[in-house]
Amino acid sequence: MDIAASSGAEGRLRAALEASGHRHTAQRGAVYRYLRNVTTHPTADEIFTQVREVLPDISLATVYKALEAFVEAGLARKLSVGGGPARYDGRTEQHDHVRCLRCGIVRDVIGPHDSEMIRGLGSGDGFEIIDYRLELIGYCPACQS
Ligand SMILES: [Zn+2]
Ligand SMILES: [Zn+2]
Repeated sequence: MDIAASSGAEGRLRAALEASGHRHTAQRGAVYRYLRNVTTHPTADEIFTQVREVLPDISLATVYKALEAFVEAGLARKLSVGGGPARYDGRTEQHDHVRCLRCGIVRDVIGPHDSEMIRGLGSGDGFEIIDYRLELIGYCPACQS
């Protein structure tokens, strides 16, 4: 692993956490690195299972508190999808999701689409649109058979 690059990312994580009144810990660093490096939008349970492989002492409560701190610090997004457990996303810039109705996996929507057109849909009766969440639903390749 590139020590310099990882300490730079760790420094930014620390700065963002402290700016929003949260502590940086080694465990939070590990949770954040995992979340940033996956595209699966994992649940807290899934994150706990994976991070525990590296940090056997970490607890599920610590994972939950870390995730709450990241969301408050603007480092992660919490996705409430389909009535299932919340999923977490290490990408915070505007992007959209596709969700499988059978197994519940969530992936990023690939490819450009017209944000202005989508925002325009909501402004008919004077709403000022500041943001949107677009979710496509269907069946993932594994669930189609
Ligand atoms: Zn599926
Ligand atoms: Zn995403």
